[in-house]
Amino acid sequence: MSAPMKNNIDFLLECVQAQNPSANLKKIRAAYECAAAAHEGQKRRNGEPYIIHPVAVAKIIVEMGLDTDSICAGLLHDCIEDTEFGYREIENKFGTSVAELVDGVTRLGMLRYSKEQEQFEDLRKMFMAMAKDIRVILIKLADRLHNARTFQFLPERKQRDKALETMEIYAPIAHRLGMSRIKWELEDLCLQILDPIGYQEIVDGLEKESERYEEFLDHIKERITSKLDEAHITHSISARVKHIYSIYRKMYAQHKTINEIYDICAVRVIVEDVADCYNVLGYVHDLYKPIPGRFKDYISTPKPNGYQSLHTTVIGREGIPFEIQIRTGEMHKMAEYGVAAHWKYKQGLDRVGNEEAFSWIRQLLEAQQDTEAEDFIKAIKVELFADEVFVFTPKGDVINMPAGATPIDMAYAIHSAVGNRMTGAKVNGRIVQIDSHLKNGDIVEILTSKETHGPSRDWLKIVRTTEARNKIKQWFKKECREENIIKGKEDLDRELRANLLYNGFYENEEVIQNTLNKFSFQNIDEMYAAIGYGGITITKVINKVKDEVGRIRRAAERAEKTEQMLAQPQPEKKSRRSQSGVIVEGIDNCLVKFARCCTPIPGDDIIGFITRGYGVSIHRRDCVNVRINEEDKDRSRWVNCWWDEDLIERNNKFSTALQISTRSRTGILAEVMVLLAQTKVNVRDLSARDLEDGYGVINVVIDVTGVRQLKHIMTRLKNTKGVLDVARISNDAAH
Ligand code: MN
Repeated sequence: MSAPMKNNIDFLLECVQAQNPSANLKKIRAAYECAAAAHEGQKRRNGEPYIIHPVAVAKIIVEMGLDTDSICAGLLHDCIEDTEFGYREIENKFGTSVAELVDGVTRLGMLRYSKEQEQFEDLRKMFMAMAKDIRVILIKLADRLHNARTFQFLPERKQRDKALETMEIYAPIAHRLGMSRIKWELEDLCLQILDPIGYQEIVDGLEKESERYEEFLDHIKERITSKLDEAHITHSISARVKHIYSIYRKMYAQHKTINEIYDICAVRVIVEDVADCYNVLGYVHDLYKPIPGRFKDYISTPKPNGYQSLHTTVIGREGIPFEIQIRTGEMHKMAEYGVAAHWKYKQGLDRVGNEEAFSWIRQLLEAQQDTEAEDFIKAIKVELFADEVFVFTPKGDVINMPAGATPIDMAYAIHSAVGNRMTGAKVNGRIVQIDSHLKNGDIVEILTSKETHGPSRDWLKIVRTTEARNKIKQWFKKECREENIIKGKEDLDRELRANLLYNGFYENEEVIQNTLNKFSFQNIDEMYAAIGYGGITITKVINKVKDEVGRIRRAAERAEKTEQMLAQPQPEKKSRRSQSGVIVEGIDNCLVKFARCCTPIPGDDIIGFITRGYGVSIHRRDCVNVRINEEDKDRSRWVNCWWDEDLIERNNKFSTALQISTRSRTGILAEVMVLLAQTKVNVRDLSARDLEDGYGVINVVIDVTGVRQLKHIMTRLKNTKGVLDVARISNDAAH
C-alpha cells in the first residue's frame, strides 16, 4: 500500500468522525482494507490505482450523511462485479446489510440503458423499483457522481453515452429525491460534455461580468445583513450566481442570450425558525421592490420532493432582478441532501427498515402537490415507487402493472384469450393463488386450458387493472346475455325496493326513459344485461332514478305553488348566469370585473357599475366609490347584482385585501403569515411598512371563498397578540 492511498483513508475517516461521531471507524477501515486488497493491481483509465474511486465514492456518501453500513458498501461497491471478493465474503465480514447494499448497487449497474427517448421514463422507474433499499440508490448516485467527475478520461463516444444517461436518469432521480447538490453537479458535468460550446459560452459570459455580479451581490448581502442585524435576527446569508445548467436551460427555453436572462443571481438567507423566515421576507420586501407573482411559499406548501423555502424575486440596483430564498437550517439541509438528510436524522433512532424509508418517501410524494413540479410529475408520474410493479414473463419480457396486480391482471395484460383460458399461475416456478399480489422481479407463468371456459365473476373483484376488468366484462357481455338480463333485473329490483324507488321507477315511463337515455341504453333489457355483467354499477342507476323521481316530485310541488302565486304580480327580472359568479340584472353573460377599491367577495352586498368598454365593475354597496344620488348623471349606469349561489358552492376563490394595524411590526408579520398558512389561504400579495411611534401596517391580498371564511380569518387575526385592528380595504381611489 503506497502513501497517498493511506492518506486517503485517513482523511476519509477524519471526515466520518466530524460528520458522525457514533460511526464505526473500525468497520470502515476494515472495509477499506478489503477493497484495497481486492482491487490490488487494478488501475482506472487515468492511470490511478483503482481504490481511489471507491474511497472517493465513500467520501461523497459521508457528505450525504449516510450510516456506517452505507460507507462500507461504498468502499466495497465494485468488489462483487470486478474482483474475486464476493457476496459471501462481504456478508461474513461485514454483515448481511452491507452485503445486500453492495449487491443492490451491483445489480443497478447491470441495467442496460438504451438511447431511445421513450425508454428513459421506464428506466428511471425500473431503477427505482429494483432498489429495495433507498440507500442503494444513494450509493449508486455517489458512484455515478464520482464517475462523472472523471468522464474526461473515457473515450469520446463513451463520454457522450454516459453523460446522456446521467442527464436522463441519474440527475432526475437525484432531483426526485430532493438532492439538489448532487443533481446540480451531475447536470453541470454532463452539460460540459453534451454541449461543450454552449457550456463555455455561459462560463465566458459569467466570467466577463463576474466583477459586476460580485459587486452587486456584495452590496445586496451587506444591505440585507445590516437590516437583519438591526432587527436582531440571527442569520447567515450567501449570494451566488446560479449554476450553469439552470442558466443554460433558461436560455434554451426562452430563446435568449445570457445577457437577456432574467435572474442569474440568487441570494440565500438561512435563519433559525419558521417565524424568522417570514420576518426576513418582510424586511426584504421593505428593502427591494418585489416582482408581482414571483412570491412562492414552499414552507406552507412544500414541493413534492420535500423542498421547503420562501422564494421571492425582487428588483435590485440598476433594475437587475434577483431571487431570494429564505429558509431554516433544517430546511436547507433537506434542500441540499434531500432524502439523505432525512436518513441522517433517522439514524439516531434504531435501524430503520427499508420498507419504512420507502413508505416515507411515498407519503411525501402523495401528500404534496406543486404546480411548478407538474412537468416533472408528468414525465415520471407519481407512481414512481411502490405504485408499480415490474414482472417478467417466462420468456423474460418485462410487464409493468400497478402495485397489487394479480396473476389475472398479468394474464389479461398478455392477451384476453390468455385471461379467458386461465386456470392458474406459477410465480417463480411455484403454483400460487390467482389472487396473490405480484412483486417486483417475479417471473410469472400463466397456466391455461385448451378450451375457453371464461373468467369467473369473482375475478372482477380481484383484478387491479382496468384493462383486465374491461376484458372480463366484455366476455360476460358477449357470452351470456340471457343470464345477465335475468340477474341484472333481479339485482336492480332488489335495490329499487331497498331505496323505496320501485314504484317511482316502474310507474313512470318518463323516469325509465330518462334513465335509459342518461346511460345511452336502447331498451330496458340492455340496461339489465349491463348491470348483470357489471358494465354499469347499480349505484349509478339508482342515483339517476333517485334524481328523476325527486325531480318529478318537485316539479309537481312547484306547479302547485305557481298556481297559488299567479295571483300576485311578480317583479320582472331577467337575469342570467355569469361565469364570474355574479348575476347582473338585465344583462346576459356580460364581462364582469371586481373593483380593486373594495375587493368584494361572495356574501357581500354588491352593486354593479357599467363602465365604458370594460363591462360591469362590481363594488360592495358600502364602498366609498358607490355614490348614487339624484343629481348623479351616471345614475342609470348603476345596476343591481347578486352572487350566483351555485358558484359559491363550487368553492371558487376571490381575492380581497386586508389591512392589519399592528403595535410594532417586528415578529408580528411572521405570526400573521404563519396564521394565514395554517388557515390554508393563498397569499397573493404582501407588503408591510413601519409607521411612527413604533406602529406598523401590513397589507395582504388573499384568496377566499367568501365572507364566511374571511370573517373567520379576520377574527383569528384580531386575536393575534400585537394586532390592533384588521379591516377590509375600501378607501382606495381606484374605480
Ligand atoms: Mn464504481
